Amino acid sequence: MLRIEGLQKQYRTGDAALRGVDLVVPAGEVIGLIGPSGAGKSTLIRCVNRLVEPTAGRIFLGDDEVTGASRRALRRLRRRMGMIFQEFALVERLTVMENVLAGRLGAVPFWRSLTRRFPPEDVRNAFATLDRVGLLDHVDKRADALSGGQRQRVGIARALLQDPDLLLIDEPTASLDPKTSRQIMRLIGEVCAERRLAAVVNIHDVALAQMFLGRIVGLKAGEVVYDGPSAGLDATV
Ligand code: ADP
Ligand code: ADP
Repeated sequence: MLRIEGLQKQYRTGDAALRGVDLVVPAGEVIGLIGPSGAGKSTLIRCVNRLVEPTAGRIFLGDDEVTGASRRALRRLRRRMGMIFQEFALVERLTVMENVLAGRLGAVPFWRSLTRRFPPEDVRNAFATLDRVGLLDHVDKRADALSGGQRQRVGIARALLQDPDLLLIDEPTASLDPKTSRQIMRLIGEVCAERRLAAVVNIHDVALAQMFLGRIVGLKAGEVVYDGPSAGLDATV
């Protein structure tokens, strides 16, 4: 479960990006974060893993507080947060399997991932996870030979292999065609339900969010202006 209380962010320059956001995402629920450009969506996601330091407010992952966590505690907490990015941060010259296993190492520099031997259970897990996301036939393909949808599936598998409690997903379909976008959104919904993961998906396509997500949170100028069923959105935002 993710719990955010009174979250504020003021960058050194410019207006406040977040002006007191409260949000609870229970295990197993995927919420869509929508809102115009500049609303604070990326800032919110980046505050949760403290890539951006919040100015005020508290963030909890389960019973553990993320805000105020020491550097060491934060490293442990981040392992429980799977990050999936729009730009599919894959290592192009590595295979699908290598990219997914490298996720086990978290923030370890990539060259070290090449010299490390992985425990057999990690490899077994990686095969099972790649099977789940539909990439079992592509494990030995290099990342630079994959389609956009396949690359996003690698990103999802890599995040899942960490066995996270929470997924933070930034614009997962921004560079995908509509059909592939729907497949990826369906997959995200399914794996989160199967594994009881909470997830926050920053998504600009409202129709796509409504098709696959039950709950939507609308941000505008750093404030929550809608939090409710995706079907009830039209009238409000
Ligand atoms: P969104 O993801 O909804 O487009 P952002 O979180 O990127 O919104 O931005 C929210 C506000 O914070 C915007 O006004 C943006 O200009 C500002 N902002 C974002 N990142 C920075 C930064 N690193 N430094 C200063 N201002 C920033
Ligand atoms: P785009 O991002 O280019 O708008 P979308 O994936 O949102 O593409 O699809 C375009 C429109 O068609 C959307 O409004 C969506 O609701 C609708 N649509 C596409 N595929 C389906 C589908 N399988 N079921 C229901 N509606 C669909």
